[in-house]
Amino acid sequence: MDTSSLIKRCPRLGSDVPFSYCRGCGEKGLPCFKVFDCWWETFDVVEYLKAELPEQDFARLRETRPKEKVLSLLEIIEQARKNAAQEKA
Ligand code: SF4
Repeated sequence: MDTSSLIKRCPRLGSDVPFSYCRGCGEKGLPCFKVFDCWWETFDVVEYLKAELPEQDFARLRETRPKEKVLSLLEIIEQARKNAAQEKA
């Protein structure tokens, strides 16, 4: 799969990024921890990275996803608390 022309709006940066950026901007040169969430609709990113990455790196990348979902949930809760505090003020 030629991914060189793939571009997507990054929800973290708020600007367009090429897939090559997502492919290497994570911890220790791994893909971004959101790479599966951001690219699954564009192409089979799971199979692509499974073929591209060493087995242990692919496993590590998959393991980072649930932690991020928990983090996102915590951020939503924190935002709700702030909103509630502002409504009381
Ligand atoms: S994978 Fe990461 S860097 Fe790429 S668009 Fe998604 S959030 Fe942004």
